[in-house]
Amino acid sequence: MFVCPMFKRIMLTSLGWLALCLACRATNTVAVDLTIRPETHSFSCRYTLTARSPAALTRLALNLNKQLRVESVSGPHLRAQTARLFYDGFQKDTLRQLTLDFTGARRQQTLTIQYSGQLPKRFYTDSLAELTPYANWLPNLPDREYEPVRYRLTVHVPPAYQVVSTHPPRRTRSGYYEFAGTAPNIEITAIAARYFTRLASAAPGLAVVLYKANQSATAADSLLLRQARRIITYQNQIIGRRDPIRQFTFLLPGTNRNAGGLLDNAAVITYPDFDTRDPAELLILAHEISHKWWGYGTWNDYNNWLNEGFAVYSGLLYLRAAGDTASFRQGLAKRRASAATAPAVLNFDVRQGTYATFRQVMYDKPTIILYELHQRLGDAPFFRILTATAAARISTTQAFLELVERETNRETRDWLALQLST
Ligand SMILES: [Zn+2]
Repeated sequence: MFVCPMFKRIMLTSLGWLALCLACRATNTVAVDLTIRPETHSFSCRYTLTARSPAALTRLALNLNKQLRVESVSGPHLRAQTARLFYDGFQKDTLRQLTLDFTGARRQQTLTIQYSGQLPKRFYTDSLAELTPYANWLPNLPDREYEPVRYRLTVHVPPAYQVVSTHPPRRTRSGYYEFAGTAPNIEITAIAARYFTRLASAAPGLAVVLYKANQSATAADSLLLRQARRIITYQNQIIGRRDPIRQFTFLLPGTNRNAGGLLDNAAVITYPDFDTRDPAELLILAHEISHKWWGYGTWNDYNNWLNEGFAVYSGLLYLRAAGDTASFRQGLAKRRASAATAPAVLNFDVRQGTYATFRQVMYDKPTIILYELHQRLGDAPFFRILTATAAARISTTQAFLELVERETNRETRDWLALQLST
């Protein structure tokens, strides 16, 4: 799940990764040159964005954590810049918005922001600095936080430190690491520690690796890897037939805050005592892994149910498949009770109301609606819908309703639309 990095309360509860994919936009490119100073829990960053658009760009806005100190903004065609603070009702935080105006209209604009910051307390420990999405350390295009970018991330650390990310570095030498890939802008990740214990489990077609900061691995970590393999094998069958997980990375910084799945086949689990023998923690693990597919629903409106409702139900389905029908039933009953007093999912205003209501409407009620749909259709047709939804990277409720109608019939679509709108 992805928890919005800035959405502190969500972050604290551990679930919730969402996202969005904006279709038809040319992919932006990002170069991040990051220096981490773990001893002072601080960092500095040079962030270069090349934004591309089918239409000419004369202006761009970028949101940043208000705690970051912007030292300079530059670009070959930058004409003027302004900054303002504003309250973002979804992230429940005050952000700084930079508005950048360019000379002339071009389909591609490049700009560089040099900034520095202190990591919040929940993102460091002795000899560890965690720059994950939750630390809110990157500039983002408003409402496009989860849009995939092609990125190059270079990280400088003191020679006594090592760095891991969602996949192995392309190059490394003492105090220097270079990563590259395609991922949502907000997910670009670097964790620095004195050392990492690496546990790996490789079998044909699936490699799962775990990095644990500053500590040796425990039996619980080995179990986590084994459970993850089972979950991925199951979810590849019911969700990922057309887009299976072939490799997955777990990052365990030990900061004791939340767990979150990333779209880029990775998850951050910060709980130092995470133990999947507890069905509640096994459910979190299955939920977070499934966010590999459930991360395209627009994150800051009601379409977020396509991320969170699907992830909760995917997690519960795994408990059932693993034979723990008691936890499956208990999990459903808990969410059914919560859903009973929840307002409609469709058009729910995620910027209003309490976090408890947000959970009811975006997590609990959709879980029950998906369960009812499953009951109505049976396993094979329901799993076909999961697979088709994941493969199509469905991002809106409308697109999901159309998919359900194609896979079933008009009557089922109308039934589902009614569940979502009442
Ligand atoms: Zn989630």
